[in-house]
Amino acid sequence: MFVGRFPAWARTPGLRHAFSTRRGGVSRPPFGTLNLGLNTEDDPDSVRENWVKFCVAAELDRDRAAFARQDHGDAVAVVETARVYEDSDALVTQSTDVVLFIQVADCVPVFLFDPERRAVGLAHAGWRGSAKDIAGKTAAAMTARFGSDPGRMSACIGPSIGPCCCEVGPDAAERFSPRYLQGSRLDLRAVNRDALIAAGMAPDAIHISRLCTVCHKDWFFSHRGDGGKTGRMAAMIGLEKTD
Ligand SMILES: [Zn+2]
Repeated sequence: MFVGRFPAWARTPGLRHAFSTRRGGVSRPPFGTLNLGLNTEDDPDSVRENWVKFCVAAELDRDRAAFARQDHGDAVAVVETARVYEDSDALVTQSTDVVLFIQVADCVPVFLFDPERRAVGLAHAGWRGSAKDIAGKTAAAMTARFGSDPGRMSACIGPSIGPCCCEVGPDAAERFSPRYLQGSRLDLRAVNRDALIAAGMAPDAIHISRLCTVCHKDWFFSHRGDGGKTGRMAAMIGLEKTD
């Protein structure tokens, strides 16, 4: 099974991260095949089996997984134990006992790493969360809770709906500066990149995947591309003990 990883973080000591694709699982259409969603209408046994397969491929322990419940808000949870964090769309931690997970199907996964204070963060940024600055608030939470200096942090922005496909209505468009819009198409990756820069991060420390989940439906679940009924991919980041 293919496990997605960012070249920028391929050899970073003590940092683990991964993202899944839709390939390599057992779910049937419209959840085919590697649906890792916690709240879809897929057969729960298939989802469980998909999780086992993904965790084996990514060398992860499912018992250490912490999840955000995700409701397109802007709340950031500080994670200390492996469980579901209600009312949160982003997670941060310094613990090596947990790994952070969010679920996506077009929304932008924003991964954050502070090598100095040894802390990680992960944000689920759809247009609603992005309009509320979820990425900037996640970086700020790492500063507030862990003393992270954003100027020393790095970030990766994962595969997500691209400016090629992100058509939005006026209710969404009016929430963003015109510089992020080309006609009715919104560049959510640029919104999140600039949110991290505004939070104090260096532009060259932010790495962006250009893969569009709608354009590449053979590889990715796409809420928009699949007409709303589809599976979910997982994005994950965590710390390992180093000494
Ligand atoms: Zn596209």
